[in-house]
Parts: sequence; C-alpha cells; structure tokens
Amino acid sequence: MSSKAIDWRNCECGQKRGFTRQDQARKALGQVQAKRTRRADLGGSRRGLKIEHRAYECEAGYFHLTSKNRKEAGNREVTA
Ligand SMILES: [Zn+2]
Repeated sequence: MSSKAIDWRNCECGQKRGFTRQDQARKALGQVQAKRTRRADLGGSRRGLKIEHRAYECEAGYFHLTSKNRKEAGNREVTA
C-alpha cells in the first residue's frame, strides 16, 4: 500500500472533494472516522456530529463522502 496523500479534485457535480478511485474514497473515509474517534476521546459527545460515513459515486463518475444515509443521498452506494 502506498502512503501517499489521497488524490482528489473539485468535481463538476458541485461536491468539493471528488476522488478518482473508489479505494481513494475509502481511504479518506477511514481518515475521517479516525478523526471522529479521537474527538470523542477528548470527552466530547458524538451527538450532533456530522461525520461522513459513506462513499458514493456521483453522476460525473467521481467518488464522494457523505454523512447522509442511503435514503437522503439517493446515489449509488459504495461499500466502505
Ligand atoms: Zn461528483
């Protein structure tokens, strides 16, 4: 596995971070979730935290992270 920074670009669908590959999105998802765990460890509550927990592929063919559930997002799901 490479330890290089995750590669992303501004996607034409309007989402900020568009990952070019599914594995890049999953890697980013892992980083987000590690961050959430650290924050919870500091004594904060997880209530109300909007944390991305899913990745999906948009119509432009890029992968994005979302904190919405499947029903809200309405996009093709990518198992993270
Ligand atoms: Zn997109």
